[in-house]
Amino acid sequence: MDKPLLSVIVPSYNEEQNVEAFYFALRDVLATTHYRWEVIFVDDGSSDETLPLIQRLSTWHSSVKYVSFTRNFGKEAAILAGFQHAKGDCAVIIDADLQHPVELIGELLQGYEEGYDQVIACRDRKGESLVRSAVSRLYYKLINRVVDVTLENGAGDFRLLSRRAMDALLVMSEGNRFSKGLFSWIGFEQKTVHYENVSRKNGDSKWSASKLINYGIDGIISFNMKPLRLCLYAGGFILTIAMLYIFIMFIQILRTGVDVPGYFTMISAVLFLGGIQLVSLGIIGEYIGRIYNETKRRPHYLVKETNSSREKHYEHVQ
Ligand code: UDP
Ligand code: MG
Repeated sequence: MDKPLLSVIVPSYNEEQNVEAFYFALRDVLATTHYRWEVIFVDDGSSDETLPLIQRLSTWHSSVKYVSFTRNFGKEAAILAGFQHAKGDCAVIIDADLQHPVELIGELLQGYEEGYDQVIACRDRKGESLVRSAVSRLYYKLINRVVDVTLENGAGDFRLLSRRAMDALLVMSEGNRFSKGLFSWIGFEQKTVHYENVSRKNGDSKWSASKLINYGIDGIISFNMKPLRLCLYAGGFILTIAMLYIFIMFIQILRTGVDVPGYFTMISAVLFLGGIQLVSLGIIGEYIGRIYNETKRRPHYLVKETNSSREKHYEHVQ
């Protein structure tokens, strides 16, 4: 029987300082496994030399494939493109910036051989700023209360997926792809391996504070309707209290007559309710925006050039 094929998916956006070093490190590790392999670089509309470098690698090494986007479509789109082009029996998603230790791939494959469909590499938060790790911890605590899927702090996109798991992910054609949630949503047998956080050596992280906040909101909104429900509950709660208050006031007025002040209560009620209404509207707006995006059914990305073909039976997935 043929040796199994491993697809390594590498989203790369402005990684000219890393792609070559990354590829050679990766190749050394893959050479020690008993797998056939292909590396799929997904150039996410880089404006630097990333694409020419990848193309050069691909002319020398036939197992290097690349897909290049017409512009920056984001890492989620890059991962999706990687899945659509992967021919492997299993796939590893890994960053190009050497922050994901390539040596861990051996351990991931071991998990795969033990029969797990997802082997997740989970990092600690060593070397990260205190504020960022505290915010992350808080976010994960909160989000796991709110959403239906479980999201693990430190478990990112670095993981191995079996063909079955990849196929399951490809069936989901939603426009707003929040990979972390999707990975968890599909279920399957999962195993987690841990590694120590590595700081980026070359180039900058593509995450700005505002991008992180948007990503955080996507995580909450993409996964269920609970925030909408929350609005309903909050509204109901406040309405009940308001009714009670009105009732008590009314009784009091009947008993002791109207006394003038009341400005404070009035204004606080107006402000409070106004606030709640705005938040609720915002949440509803988020969902409507998403519905709007989904109805447009735009493709997740556009390909400028590639040396790889898509798996035939996924052509219906945009
Ligand atoms: N990346 C991408 N498209 C983007 C942003 C990032 O393909 O719009 C890639 C990037 O090249 C890297 C990986 O995704 O290989 C992780 O990005 P980054 O290192 O900026 O994220 P961090 O490690 O800080 O979470
Ligand atoms: Mg990084």
